[in-house]
Amino acid sequence: MAKTYTIRCKEINSDMNGVFTFNNARLEAPGLLVGEKAEISLLYGKDKGKAAVEKILEPSPDRVEPLCPVYGSCGGCKLMHTSYENQLRIKTDVVRKLLSSFGEVQDCVGVEGEPYHYRNKIHSTLSVSKKGKIISGLYKETSHNVVNTSSCAIENENASEIMKTVRKFMSDCKLAPFNEDTGKGTLRHVLFRTSAKGDVLVVLVSGNRIFPEKNKLASLIAQKHPCVKSVTVNYNLKKTSAVLGDKEEVLYGNGYVTDEMCGITFRISGKSFYQVNTPLAEKIYLNAITKAGIDANDTVLDAYCGIGTIACIAAKLSNAKDVVGVELNETAVADAEENSKLAGLKNVSFINEDAGDYLYAAIGAGIHYSCIIMDPPRSGASEQFINAVLKMKPEKLIYISCNPVTLARDLKKLTLKEYKASYIRPYDMFPQTSGIETVCLLNRLSGLRSDSVRKS
Ligand code: SAH
Repeated sequence: MAKTYTIRCKEINSDMNGVFTFNNARLEAPGLLVGEKAEISLLYGKDKGKAAVEKILEPSPDRVEPLCPVYGSCGGCKLMHTSYENQLRIKTDVVRKLLSSFGEVQDCVGVEGEPYHYRNKIHSTLSVSKKGKIISGLYKETSHNVVNTSSCAIENENASEIMKTVRKFMSDCKLAPFNEDTGKGTLRHVLFRTSAKGDVLVVLVSGNRIFPEKNKLASLIAQKHPCVKSVTVNYNLKKTSAVLGDKEEVLYGNGYVTDEMCGITFRISGKSFYQVNTPLAEKIYLNAITKAGIDANDTVLDAYCGIGTIACIAAKLSNAKDVVGVELNETAVADAEENSKLAGLKNVSFINEDAGDYLYAAIGAGIHYSCIIMDPPRSGASEQFINAVLKMKPEKLIYISCNPVTLARDLKKLTLKEYKASYIRPYDMFPQTSGIETVCLLNRLSGLRSDSVRKS
């Protein structure tokens, strides 16, 4: 038995771990709440600086029984041990600590209704248990061991049912899961995209080019689950932690599902980025676009645009002169073009390029955007992109971020001379998990048109 020590949790960090002082060092442990007294054991090696909670001695009044039987071993959720109200308070506090120096941080906006089963993108990895049974679920945090999850509290419930069909088919047909270490076996992951009205796209990710059972499995899934509108196979033959490979074939249906946001229909295929919580994403987009006060005189750049959701909604709602979306992923750009065409939008176009490269090229070509909406991945915007923004000096700047740590880093540069944050609001797009989405509106300090940015 590891040696244990008694500590008291002082605060929660941006990974949603409890922070405490031990021998004058700041250490962290998952699953702790502020004020709780607990027995911990120290971790070493790659986990140095972290601890495991052995026993909670004085529980917080905000502690609740987690809903999921594999909570704590699967790496998906981090806050299921506390009430939803407290989850929102924790997220507000985390963002306040990181961003208060840039402006007032408003309270985190939560989901309406139950904060469960909201994920429209689900990813299940296949493996074999020690007893030889086919299992599926998420990886244990910081490892590649699959935690068997037959149903998940945050995923759309249809996916759990379809996974039962997949696992049974694999046992019946002796179809082995792909083994990352040996390179043997076939089915690696199953990815689901679901629409708000319940349509499902199933992507069978194979680690092997030879997959003779694929059509039989696709037909079985479609026949047993009428919600499934399409099944594709994606070949990911590389030794990689990325889920999807490049090559994809449609086995059933048309290879995508459609979803609706702000009255616009969006086509979502397996490879394109689409926000995992549609109602919250809709709220964020609407709020950001309205707060920026985009009008018919504006030329707008939607940087890191994915399948063009923000660009299309802004183009439709604001009637802006010209809206351009820029995105690195080719499939997402194809979806974006199709989406704007289907919506009959004439004032929007898309470019498949690195956002920073494009913005510099635009400056070189004498193009000016009066409004830039940026929604970069977790790593934040590239230095090149930030420098280009500071060079172009758009009158309106909206930063939508899925990582407040990189948002803080980027705001530091943006607010050094040119901009001031006038609105900062976290949104709980990912209840139970450590994810926080933040909307930040920036005003230009010099040369600001008096009507260009509406006050919050
Ligand atoms: N705004 C979209 C997508 C945001 S996610 C939405 O709300 O749905 C971030 C997007 O940035 C992803 O689609 C990713 O493919 C894209 N991306 C990542 N690096 C990029 C880069 N260097 N240049 C342009 N796009 C990039």
